[in-house]
Amino acid sequence: MPHPLFTAEHEMLRRSIRSFVEKEITPHVAAWEDEGRIPLEVWRRLGELGFLGLEFPTEYGGGGADFLASVVLGEEMARCRSGGVAFSVLVHTDMSSPWLTRFGTDAQKAKYLPGIIRGETVCALGITEPGTGSDMAALATRAVRDGHVYRITGGKIFITNGVYGDLYFVAARTGAGTATRRHDGISMFLVERGLPGFTVSRKLDKMGMRASDTAELAFEDCPVPAENLLGVEGRGFQQLAAGLQRERLMAAVLALSGAQQAVDDTVSYLHQRTAFGEPLAARQVLRHRVADMATELEAARQLVYRAASLYAAAEECVTEVSMAKLFATEAANRVAYQAVQLHGGYGYMREFPVEGFFRDVRLWTIASGTSEVMREIIAKRLLT
Ligand SMILES: Cc1cc2nc3c(=O)[nH]c(=O)nc-3n(C[C@H](O)[C@H](O)[C@H](O)COP(=O)(O)OP(=O)(O)OC[C@H]3O[C@@H](n4cnc5c(N)ncnc54)[C@H](O)[C@@H]3O)c2cc1C
Repeated sequence: MPHPLFTAEHEMLRRSIRSFVEKEITPHVAAWEDEGRIPLEVWRRLGELGFLGLEFPTEYGGGGADFLASVVLGEEMARCRSGGVAFSVLVHTDMSSPWLTRFGTDAQKAKYLPGIIRGETVCALGITEPGTGSDMAALATRAVRDGHVYRITGGKIFITNGVYGDLYFVAARTGAGTATRRHDGISMFLVERGLPGFTVSRKLDKMGMRASDTAELAFEDCPVPAENLLGVEGRGFQQLAAGLQRERLMAAVLALSGAQQAVDDTVSYLHQRTAFGEPLAARQVLRHRVADMATELEAARQLVYRAASLYAAAEECVTEVSMAKLFATEAANRVAYQAVQLHGGYGYMREFPVEGFFRDVRLWTIASGTSEVMREIIAKRLLT
């Protein structure tokens, strides 16, 4: 039974993404996990099917759909059996490029959006630096105006799609903040691959999300055309804060959808596996464990769908999104732990999807704002 949040159009979209994922993504994810990247043809194919531009304006080739269509994309991509594939795609569609429609000039949109929608221009978001992640105001990358360009110098780390990306949404300091307004003076730039002074210094090796490429980037006096400033100079943090709610919701959606599959896999496994003369599914202690896993996910789903409906309606939802991100990603990790446990030794083996999910989902209490940062945001709103 479809959830009432979604319309018949959303469900139609869900069926088409699900069928594409089952036929053209899932059979190949093991190879892409080994390669540490998604092939370029897959980006093109996603673009051809319209999945990379669901919400973008139709005049640039987008679908003009609503935010809930992107939630459907996140849920269905997360079912592909590789967290990294889903993460890469959603970084492109939801965690970087929406800033262009929100803050870009008409010229910037005309230049970049068609390629982004067709899957020819893969996007990355460059905020985190070796010296700072959660504390964005401490970022040290600088952009200094020099005639028709800004010269960017500094470094970024943990950048998803960073090794093979084409267009980077980069945060850099154009001015100093003050003691009371530390976040002032940050600006956002559209940085194209291939500019002089811009190098991918390292492809990072990581625990999970292995099909998504993750980079360390270096900028040395890199001349970014002044027309590639995104939005208002010095207001980058305020602009980013607006988009972070979408990013956090998507993180919760990906974690939740993957965890649902882990529960489904566990239920099947408990039916198939026998021990001491009966299927494991007959053991009350394990039945109760599954009941707890499903209950946690249902609670998480209610929080996520409630926050998503507020966000879709353009209502203030920072507390709701922070609660949804905190609870859903922590619950998904608890579920992953139990899913591996209930699969016994097989849960530790690569050929069983719960093994990969256990590694992938570990990211979600860290990236897009850690659980501690989510608690800080919620507490600040409750206690001040
Ligand atoms: C696989 C992967 C992909 C990523 N992709 C991207 C990307 O595409 N673009 C990008 O810009 N970034 C990306 N990140 C970075 C990610 O968003 C950061 O790692 C995250 O925001 C945390 O920052 P940090 O790693 O610097 O940890 P820190 O901020 O140093 O935090 C370390 C610990 O201290 C805690 N802590 C920090 N501040 C407080 C506080 N005030 N109170 C209590 N506890 C606190 C944190 O919760 C954490 O437990 C990615 C990270 C990973 C691992």
